Amino acid sequence: MAWTVETAKDAETTFALGLLDAVRERGFAVANAIMDKGYDNGPVHDGCNARGVCPVTPLRETPGVKRGDHKPRCCEHGEWTFAGTDYKRQATKWRCPTGECQPKSTWVKADRMHPLIPRHTERSKALYSSRGAVEREFGRLKHEWAMLPLRVRGIERVRLHADLTILAKLACALTNARAAPRAA
Ligand SMILES: [Zn+2]
Repeated sequence: MAWTVETAKDAETTFALGLLDAVRERGFAVANAIMDKGYDNGPVHDGCNARGVCPVTPLRETPGVKRGDHKPRCCEHGEWTFAGTDYKRQATKWRCPTGECQPKSTWVKADRMHPLIPRHTERSKALYSSRGAVEREFGRLKHEWAMLPLRVRGIERVRLHADLTILAKLACALTNARAAPRAA
């Protein structure tokens, strides 16, 4: 749906938000952005949230994480529990485990430490494991669609090769989709 070809010396994370915008401009609704650990940084999380997209990444061991900034609040009754997400408000709700604190719940604004889909939830884990689908697609592009080994040199030629390959693959996917009987 959107791709970019860059040299290995460019940091992948700088292209994530631009690709998200490209996908959205092409008319696709993007609910979640599932990314590996390398994308776990503040600007990527904030950029996703600003676009109404939930970022799903593992947690990178940064100084803030070592300090425990990502952990739920604790009170004398124990660790506060996750009580839902308000996507409009861009915040998660957390409750005192016994409800004895006043107030008994609090909103936590979404950021890298506190994503809208908290990392400990089954939902976050299931979404993250679905990332394998794109890795399999990369494998098919490399091994069945001639993206590897590359027979051209220079970023412009490699870009053209990747564009043509992916366009051909999308054309096949479109043909298959049109040939498939529509679900009643
Ligand atoms: Zn409490």
